[in-house]
Amino acid sequence: MTVRVRGYALPHGEYVDLYADGDRWTTDPVRGAELASGWLLPGLVDAHTHPGAEKPGDPLDEQLLRSHLNQHVDAGVTAVRSPGLAGEPPDWFGTDPDLPRAWHAGPWLAQHGQFFDGWGRRADHAALPAIAAAQAARTGWAKIIADWSVGDDPVPVEVLTAVVDAVHAVGGRVAVHTQHALGGVAAVTAGVDSVEHGMCLDPGLLTRMAEQGTALTPTLSAFQSMLPTVHSRPDSPVKEWLLGGASVHGDLVAAASEAGVRVLAGTDSVPHGRVLDEVRALAGAGMRPHDAIGAASWEARAYLGLGGLELGAPADAVVYREDPRLDLDQLAHPVAVILRGRRVR
Ligand SMILES: [Zn+2]
Repeated sequence: MTVRVRGYALPHGEYVDLYADGDRWTTDPVRGAELASGWLLPGLVDAHTHPGAEKPGDPLDEQLLRSHLNQHVDAGVTAVRSPGLAGEPPDWFGTDPDLPRAWHAGPWLAQHGQFFDGWGRRADHAALPAIAAAQAARTGWAKIIADWSVGDDPVPVEVLTAVVDAVHAVGGRVAVHTQHALGGVAAVTAGVDSVEHGMCLDPGLLTRMAEQGTALTPTLSAFQSMLPTVHSRPDSPVKEWLLGGASVHGDLVAAASEAGVRVLAGTDSVPHGRVLDEVRALAGAGMRPHDAIGAASWEARAYLGLGGLELGAPADAVVYREDPRLDLDQLAHPVAVILRGRRVR
């Protein structure tokens, strides 16, 4: 049945009345269309999630992948970006009409001796640009692990710069994992497209990120939920690093938003479908509720090339009874989730 959405559309709050013509919004009325009305978001996005595996090192499991993606849809997520997957996803990933649109970077690309055992691909510095470009040519993205644990050398800035050049040359984009100050410097200097986590990033780099369009996916709620476990560990350099970085990560997020950096909501955690937790964390850190929701919706959609609630844009929407900016808890209770022009929840 054709879907019709009517109400106040965020981010601007203008009144819209749209019909889904297949996977496109139109204003041409369709008789008998199923109406969902209220406050409308153009679909939520989880910009950092690794569906299909339960714990690091596990192979990609297609049944689990489907179930994780269903949990995302339950939360109103109509698009995901997976900066790293445990294996080659099946053809239906990103195209199944009942599951979110999807972008992915294939396996994580890391230096020898870094990252989770059993996950990702290791490469010499000299080979990294070509491998990343080949991946991005296939799926649009490459994901580089720029740094890993305490005392590890980050990927040198010349290597990251060569990666960015090679990936951009094939029309792709580079997402970079960094959780140390030096890795952050290398990523921002190299001009990567997104900094993932960004823990311990020098706030002095935020202006440059905003200027060159480097997005930040802080995965803040994942850090916050890890803190109690880290606190209970015996003292060690790793504990000191995690506590030091995580305790100021919220401040970094607020400063990034203030500086005009595009902040993206990413959960990076199990169970899946908890993008609302990240929105709450972003708002709790000091982002305006409007911007915290935008990080999980219109900002992320624009970043991925998806339009909003406008003529001709892909027909995704999440409908709420009240303005979610005034009450973030609204996000936990969507009235309707519309994906590719069909009501799926
Ligand atoms: Zn991740």
